[in-house]
Amino acid sequence: MTNIHKNISRTVTRFAPSPSGYLHLGHAYAALFAWRLAQHSNGQFILRIEDLDKERRSKEFEECIYEDLEWLGISWNKPVMRQSDRSEAYKRAINSLSEMKLLYPCFCTRKDILEEINVSNNAPHKNNSFGPIYPGICRNLENEKRNALIGSGKPYALRLDITKAKHIVGNLTWYDRIRGKQIVQINNIGDVVLARKDIASSYHLAVTIDDAAQGITLINRGNDLFESTHVHRILQALLDLETPEWQHTPLLTDTNGKRLAKRENSLTLRSLRARGIKGTDIWLEAIKNIASTEKSDIGIKF
Ligand code: GLU
Repeated sequence: MTNIHKNISRTVTRFAPSPSGYLHLGHAYAALFAWRLAQHSNGQFILRIEDLDKERRSKEFEECIYEDLEWLGISWNKPVMRQSDRSEAYKRAINSLSEMKLLYPCFCTRKDILEEINVSNNAPHKNNSFGPIYPGICRNLENEKRNALIGSGKPYALRLDITKAKHIVGNLTWYDRIRGKQIVQINNIGDVVLARKDIASSYHLAVTIDDAAQGITLINRGNDLFESTHVHRILQALLDLETPEWQHTPLLTDTNGKRLAKRENSLTLRSLRARGIKGTDIWLEAIKNIASTEKSDIGIKF
């Protein structure tokens, strides 16, 4: 069905920030790392703007991403793909999955889901490293009720029926350059949302479609998205998309051991620029950090 890229000669990498805040050092390292990997194989580095979240995105943050990357000395493809321009591609994928009868509308609010999880002691509903598993409230709604809710205009998301998906895809694996071969943990995922109530896509769907559309051969990103890759691998199998390799790198932490995050006002690249620090100095720090990760023999030398 799908092919796993092996021994890729030309590596196509990407950096896919969301313009929902200023970039910090963690982003700089991720971008530099992906860029360098592409350069080493005479490949390509792709920048993609993941601006699906209407509430949090801003033009100012997007502009700042370009300025930060330029300051780091990184160059990228133009025009840049922006997820807000990609609704047709996401719709096509949603239609294919609907035709396969793999999606169902979910009317639940976050509160409904948490309440159901709290009253239910069934192990499958509990948290695991993937987060809370959707307890299936809307999966088995009677048709009449479902149609009435749709007819009433109540907003709904579209969820993937993971049990049905499992019958189609069977056992899957994916390859992480740091942690090695991974077996898709389909039983730990639950029915993920593929189209949100407010937009006809979700992070999982958009990122999978776009990585395939851009021919990415190596997805380099932080460890916080490791679990998401199981979902992406399932979507690739369902939609018959190429399967790249992944590299999930440890997240940078501050001196108190707390991971850098946009919302916590971690030191931004913008503020470093304003202080007159040179982008090349960030390079030196990046090299030191990359060299100190558990496994630095990941095919790249600075
Ligand atoms: N847009 C995501 C972020 O800024 C990254 C997604 C990815 O690398 O897959 O956190």
